[in-house]
Amino acid sequence: MTHSSSFQGFNLLQIRPVRALIQWPLYPYIFQIISLVFFVTLAVTGWGRFVPEYVNDKIYAKTNIVNLVIWGLWWPMMVWLAVLFGRVWCTVCPLELVANGAERLGRRLGVRQLILGKWLRSGAVIVGLYAIIQLCVAGAHLHRIPAYTSLFLCSLLGAAGLVGFFFKDRAFCRGFCPVGLLLGTYGRGGMLAVRSGSGQVCNACTGKDCIASCNRTKLYGRSCPSLLNPPKLNSNRDCLVCGQCIKSCKPDNMQLVLRRPFHPADVREPLASWPVTIFVMMVSGFVTGELCSEWKTAQSIFLWLPERFIDQFSLSTVGGWIEGVWMIGIYPLLLWFVLGILAAFNSDNAFVVIRSWRLLALPLAVIVSSGHMAKGLAKFVSWVGFLPYACKDPIGIKTALEMSSKTIRQPASLLSMTSISILGTILVITGMYFSVREAKLANPETYYLRLAPKLILGVFFVFIIFGWGYMR
Ligand code: SF4
Ligand code: SF4
Ligand code: SF4
Repeated sequence: MTHSSSFQGFNLLQIRPVRALIQWPLYPYIFQIISLVFFVTLAVTGWGRFVPEYVNDKIYAKTNIVNLVIWGLWWPMMVWLAVLFGRVWCTVCPLELVANGAERLGRRLGVRQLILGKWLRSGAVIVGLYAIIQLCVAGAHLHRIPAYTSLFLCSLLGAAGLVGFFFKDRAFCRGFCPVGLLLGTYGRGGMLAVRSGSGQVCNACTGKDCIASCNRTKLYGRSCPSLLNPPKLNSNRDCLVCGQCIKSCKPDNMQLVLRRPFHPADVREPLASWPVTIFVMMVSGFVTGELCSEWKTAQSIFLWLPERFIDQFSLSTVGGWIEGVWMIGIYPLLLWFVLGILAAFNSDNAFVVIRSWRLLALPLAVIVSSGHMAKGLAKFVSWVGFLPYACKDPIGIKTALEMSSKTIRQPASLLSMTSISILGTILVITGMYFSVREAKLANPETYYLRLAPKLILGVFFVFIIFGWGYMR
């Protein structure tokens, strides 16, 4: 065990309070209950609340507590947490609690709960749901209208309850959660991981309580509710860091490891699945759009084509939706067509270009996530100053009006744009390094053939981020 822990990283369970916390019967439920209370409070606060016509919607997005907390603070924080610490958000996620409760209720009521099929497990539905959310952000301004955000939160809670009721084995997290793919893809290199200690101890273990199906429905010390195999865990992709396997392991052989990013001991998939590939393609478009939104010139270039289209056909009433389709659909296809050609440079077969998307997806996801972190940072530091105002006036109309009329000044960003630009550049360059390293670990023999797409995407992001600070 000692050998293994020094190899994998530092076992946080060696710290007494951490061990006590994870072994505590109320962990993680109590944190999930707290976050559920927050979630419901926000949903109730935003319910039916639209932006009055006389209020500037961009300012209102920051002064209303629902918009501010969900889109300005929680969403960027989730991206950062995922990249740095894997699926740690899942530990406290209220949706898992609701799904878990509904699953237990369904079982109690004798519902014959379904098993999640292969297609659902693949993440195909999640890709669709993620796309719908992004389209609603672009088209319906989901992120600026509290009523829509409230509806969004209620739909998530309702869907978690329904799926939990009719399916078994944490089905909502495994096949339906709209951020599941984002967390699973961005979180692969996270520094926090649940891993088994000594292989010998696991081999000699007769109880196998971490896997035994008879433990699945317990409240404390369940066998992995996500149907993973804890002794063989070698990726952060699906582990929700719920700690149940740690509790269940009587020989005390499970560890909560803090380790270096993108630990080489983890397994790498040479070819990403199609849902993951499509997700990374989509999110690369979304992140490009988000990065451009901080620099007017870049934004007008990025949106030049859809805006010409909107003008040409007088489609301004659905302009946002068209821009959304451009951002997560058409633009990514064009971008990945170029990246795919660069990756398949030596081949004359069109299918090789498409296949290379799957080879590129996971390494490029590292660069995309670093760009996402840069945008998240820019958003967080410029929005967080509104929090004291939103706490005083949660609805935010009065504050928005006062800020519009300059009776009170809008709070300044915590960091200057130049500093954010420098930090963002460092993030993306770090992302480029790990992207190449990931590709090398996944395909040691051929990774160097696909260096150009990583370089192009990374330099492209760095250029835009550089523009934030120096060319605005
Ligand atoms: S997968 Fe989604 S629903 Fe499940 S715990 Fe994570 S964030 Fe929550
Ligand atoms: S219960 Fe513990 S020792 Fe036994 S197989 Fe699971 S992780 Fe290994
Ligand atoms: S492997 Fe352990 S920590 Fe991860 S989801 Fe399964 S039970 Fe939870």
